[in-house]
Amino acid sequence: MAVEERVEASAGAPASTTAPDIRLEQVTKQFDDVVAVDGVSLEVPRGSFFALLGPSGCGKTTTLRMIGGFEEPTEGTIYLADRDVTGLPPYKRDVNTVFQTYALFPHLSIFDNVAFGLRRRGVKGGDLRGRVARMLELVQLGGFERRKPHQLSGGQQQRVALARALVNSPQVLLLDEPLGALDLKLRKEMQLFIKGLQHELGITFIHVTHDQEEAMTMADTIAVMNSGHIEQLGTPTDLYEHPRTAFVARFLGVSNMLEGSADGDGTVRLSDGTVLRAPAAAGRRGHVAVGIRPEKIRLGGNEGNTLAGEIAERSYIGVSTQYLVKTKAGTITVYVQNADPGAGAYKPGDQVALSWSPEVTFVVEHEEEEKPE
Ligand code: ATP
Repeated sequence: MAVEERVEASAGAPASTTAPDIRLEQVTKQFDDVVAVDGVSLEVPRGSFFALLGPSGCGKTTTLRMIGGFEEPTEGTIYLADRDVTGLPPYKRDVNTVFQTYALFPHLSIFDNVAFGLRRRGVKGGDLRGRVARMLELVQLGGFERRKPHQLSGGQQQRVALARALVNSPQVLLLDEPLGALDLKLRKEMQLFIKGLQHELGITFIHVTHDQEEAMTMADTIAVMNSGHIEQLGTPTDLYEHPRTAFVARFLGVSNMLEGSADGDGTVRLSDGTVLRAPAAAGRRGHVAVGIRPEKIRLGGNEGNTLAGEIAERSYIGVSTQYLVKTKAGTITVYVQNADPGAGAYKPGDQVALSWSPEVTFVVEHEEEEKPE
């Protein structure tokens, strides 16, 4: 089905169904003695915006390159819809990739850059002109046909790269850190632009990034990768509210992590003897870390779990005021929305009670943090 048909069919809504568009089964990639991807299995539902997120070297680009056909798995199988595409070269897979470096042809006009793939497939005349024009309109570059890439801004060049990849109506679009070369403001604009484009087209996008905010802004589902494996897969809300590992809790946003001992009954005793209620710890015993997000903690009040502390630092950071509070269980970060009355009322040296709901207290395995030498 052509992209323009998909636009009509989706009528502005994501065309998400449960049928997977991409399936990886036990995929491993080894480069000499480096295991870049280690037995990854995942399914990407049709019409979804899926992000592979993780720190440098975790294997996300290698995973994307294997889906695109630029690398062969050492082991495992890759399916596109129900078709086993393992071993097929990129041009025999119905996917297109947008790279960080745009990879536009510098000597060709914007029109010819976008028309390139269609011409190779024998499309010409009015059909070619119409499809290129519609695609340039879609990326808001109508009227730029005759320019050369160097006459466009970075964001405009990246939109040409998107148009060039989408004009072939791929089943899946792969995005390999496509916004990495842009400054922060443009990056944020492009995040929303690409998300809107995906909703409009309803085709599956797979996006690689090391930027958690970018992944959370754009994707319906995120796979957090660490050392070649998937640490956790879920919606941005799931991963943020219910991280299953300390790595995920730290990688997505700020977490206060307090070491303690779980008693099996949904309570955790901290090193200073404070007992916290954490329904998420029910059935767990032994050494754990409880986590609380900084914006879930109140200064004052009693929301079920409380800790006494002293304000060590206060910083005004625009949307919120950030407090660092020293407690016997460790230093805790608290964000208070500046829209709240009295957000900046506390000052260093003030004694405060911190409180938060047991329901927002998550629990993960305790991990030794690396300490600087
Ligand atoms: P980044 O964000 O820095 O691109 P990444 O998460 O995308 O990181 P990969 O590029 O997939 O990570 O690399 C995973 C591991 O595989 C790294 O240790 C990397 O050095 C190694 N690696 C990747 N490509 C090759 C290659 N062609 N030859 C040898 N080792 C490689």
